[in-house]
Amino acid sequence: MIRTVAIIGASLAGARAAETLRARGFDGRVLLIGEEPWLPYQRPPLSKDYLWPGGDESAILLRPADWYEANRIEARLGVKAESLDLRAREVRLSDGSDVQADAFLLATGSRPRRLPALEGAANVHYLRTRDDAARLAGALTPGARILVVGMGVIGAEVAATATRAGARVVAVEPAPTPMLRSFGSVAGAWLARAHAERGVEAHFGRMPERFEREGGLVRGVTLDGGERLDCDAVVVGIGVEPA
Ligand SMILES: Cc1cc2nc3c(=O)[nH]c(=O)nc-3n(C[C@H](O)[C@H](O)[C@H](O)COP(=O)(O)OP(=O)(O)OC[C@H]3O[C@@H](n4cnc5c(N)ncnc54)[C@H](O)[C@@H]3O)c2cc1C
Repeated sequence: MIRTVAIIGASLAGARAAETLRARGFDGRVLLIGEEPWLPYQRPPLSKDYLWPGGDESAILLRPADWYEANRIEARLGVKAESLDLRAREVRLSDGSDVQADAFLLATGSRPRRLPALEGAANVHYLRTRDDAARLAGALTPGARILVVGMGVIGAEVAATATRAGARVVAVEPAPTPMLRSFGSVAGAWLARAHAERGVEAHFGRMPERFEREGGLVRGVTLDGGERLDCDAVVVGIGVEPA
């Protein structure tokens, strides 16, 4: 008999699972364990309006804070699940505590793929969490030169938002158009034109070959076609890997 369910990963999948358990009449204990310090929130606004000054924090929550209490969902936030002992039915958390449950749901999602050549540079951004978005928003100032590496969904959306914020965007993407996998080449070509009309200088069919660093910052990149692009900050959007 299942009396306690521990959901690991407090984002869209984890929160919706908790909601569904209650909606279907599960009356036992539901624990929602999340590494981020926040109640579950929506990520789509993070690359759009949330990067914009005045982005409303409460508007991105999946459910208001009192919903969890009303539905007896016990949120354990800011702790990472480090190991799972299925025989003991126990999950070990990063604060040293153990949680026992009869069933476990792994909803740990994904994390951005990182570019090893950029590790340790202070002006490099990845975008997955609220904290990432808050940090990136600070870099999108008028006139700042933002280098976007990868024009998939994240790169294309950040390029649009950064341009709107008055930053100057240069981008590099090995495919012939932005968002090729999601949109295909016809809509991708339209999107490339829309970005160009708004001032994005995108280099398609090119790979970054060598990044130049100065004082812990990335200052520019040379592409495999020989072009050199200067930058004040870099945003990397080259896909995700399972967390
Ligand atoms: C900037 C951005 C914009 C997006 N825009 C769109 C859009 O417009 N349309 C669309 O359909 N999709 C969009 N997406 C994708 C969408 O947000 C994801 O598909 C969705 O978040 C997946 O939800 P998930 O719960 O499966 O995983 P995730 O959202 O990845 O959540 C997993 C959670 O588990 C936590 N976790 C991981 N490991 C552990 C552990 N060991 N212990 C405890 N917790 C752990 C993580 O911290 C994270 O909070 C966007 C994503 C981003 C980042």
